[in-house]
Amino acid sequence: NMGLMRGKRGVILGVANNRSIAYGIAKSCRDQGAELAFTWQGDALKKRVEPLAKELGAITLGHCDVTDPATIDAVFAEVKKQWGKIDFVVHAIAFADKDQLDGRYLETTQENFTNSMLISCYSLTAITQRAEHLMTDGGSILTLSYYGAEKWMPHYNVMGVAKAALEASVRYLAADLGEKNIRVNAISAGPIKTLAASGIGDFRYILKWNEANAPLRRNVTQEEVGDSAMYLLSDLSRGVTGEVHHVDSGYHVTGMKRPEAPDI
Ligand code: NAD
Repeated sequence: NMGLMRGKRGVILGVANNRSIAYGIAKSCRDQGAELAFTWQGDALKKRVEPLAKELGAITLGHCDVTDPATIDAVFAEVKKQWGKIDFVVHAIAFADKDQLDGRYLETTQENFTNSMLISCYSLTAITQRAEHLMTDGGSILTLSYYGAEKWMPHYNVMGVAKAALEASVRYLAADLGEKNIRVNAISAGPIKTLAASGIGDFRYILKWNEANAPLRRNVTQEEVGDSAMYLLSDLSRGVTGEVHHVDSGYHVTGMKRPEAPDI
């Protein structure tokens, strides 16, 4: 154990269960000696998150629903009370109406657009506003994006638009906070079977397509995203900010199907 995160304390938002990308990130950070704080969204997830917190020796900060700013204030007030300061934050939160993650983007309603942007994009800024004041020795903030921000992907729809805005937010927040040595980055993860992913139409097809066409010829795991996240949250990446780092088996460089790649 090299302890690359020893002495660092961070808040992880977005653990729903042990398949969550946030859980993979939490494990990688914990393995390197970080101390963690978890939140949950609603009572239904409390009973899932509490045992995972226990397993990783994490403290819990309670309920946080990013559509309710009072709950964001409450969890950051709680972490301030318990720790005084923090070193890192993981934002692994996204939501869009499942009915509109299928078919045409064109059909997106104003209500779904607004809600998806609030939960999947603005929440990073809302969380960063609270984190700034607790990162008195600098810090690292990480969010999760997807290639659908850069290129059209089937069924990703409003989420692609929200992720594009999220990636732009990373650049603006990085510029605002650089003078305080607070870094802001994103990981653009390849497709991984999680609760959130199950809402995306034809997700199995997307997984197979990526496996066949990515340079590494396989999909990525929560553990692999976790280890890359740990790098971005640790001092190893102290010269890196405003970056969108692809952890996707290299899929984002693929311009066309290899002639010998299997037909999906
Ligand atoms: P997940 O379902 O395990 O996590 C999504 C989390 O978002 C849950 O913990 C949920 O409680 C939280 N959330 C949703 N609405 C919320 C709200 N209003 N307030 C607070 N929390 C809320 O799924 P995941 O795949 O681990 O998703 C984590 C992040 O990774 C998301 O931003 C997602 O878009 C991104 N991502 C996922 C994939 C993939 O293929 N799974 C690929 C690239 C990026």
